[in-house]
Amino acid sequence: MDLKKNKPLKNLTTFRIGGPAKYFVAASDLQELKDALAFAKKNKLPVFALGAGSNILVSDRGFPGLVIKLVGDFRGLDISGIKITAGAGLRVSELLRTACSNSLSGLEFMTGIPGTVGGAVVMNAGVGKAAIGHLISWVDVLDGKGKRHRLRQKDLEFGYRRSILRKRKYVVIEAGFKALKKSNSEEIRKRMNGLMKKRL
Ligand SMILES: Cc1cc2nc3c(=O)[nH]c(=O)nc-3n(C[C@H](O)[C@H](O)[C@H](O)COP(=O)(O)OP(=O)(O)OC[C@H]3O[C@@H](n4cnc5c(N)ncnc54)[C@H](O)[C@@H]3O)c2cc1C
Repeated sequence: MDLKKNKPLKNLTTFRIGGPAKYFVAASDLQELKDALAFAKKNKLPVFALGAGSNILVSDRGFPGLVIKLVGDFRGLDISGIKITAGAGLRVSELLRTACSNSLSGLEFMTGIPGTVGGAVVMNAGVGKAAIGHLISWVDVLDGKGKRHRLRQKDLEFGYRRSILRKRKYVVIEAGFKALKKSNSEEIRKRMNGLMKKRL
């Protein structure tokens, strides 16, 4: 585990402001993440899971605990038929690109929303009434003791830009998507380009 002390957070967020994390780990696999959580528990440190930092503002005082960013294995993506499993550290843009090139439709409304799969699930990111929670089948999380749990869509209490994950001290590690449809890559791409133009 590559533990950093007093790591500046500003360059890890969109707004590029704020102070350092007392401790910081970029966890590349499950064991590193478990080790990081054990370190936080042993030292009674609060934990903050950081996605792409597109929806947070870091205080000038920094964060007095352990900030964990998911990299490496947590940026994986697996497609089986019309189902996608995505790592929490994967960029949403990458998820959309791969869904499109595999002719899977349903996620296009997320075009242009910055961030990671983990951040999107926690925030139930979306546009208007269309939100990522509608497409979630399950979410795998680790609790503060490093124990893995699978939460189903109904357990996640998705609402407008919220889910139960905003209140619970879990690190989201992976999400399973359902309700995607086979379509035509070119049509999906056109829809995404149109949405991006509108957003810009
Ligand atoms: C220009 C711009 C446009 C935007 N447009 C939209 C929009 O149209 N719709 C919309 O919904 N949002 C929008 N947002 C907000 C933002 O993109 C979303 O909230 C996004 O889902 C946040 O993802 P992130 O990875 O950046 O999360 P972060 O900002 O890093 O974190 C957000 C929250 O999620 C938690 N979190 C992140 N990853 C994990 C994890 N692995 N485990 C546990 N908790 C985690 C963090 O602890 C934090 O509480 C926009 C932001 C910007 C800057």
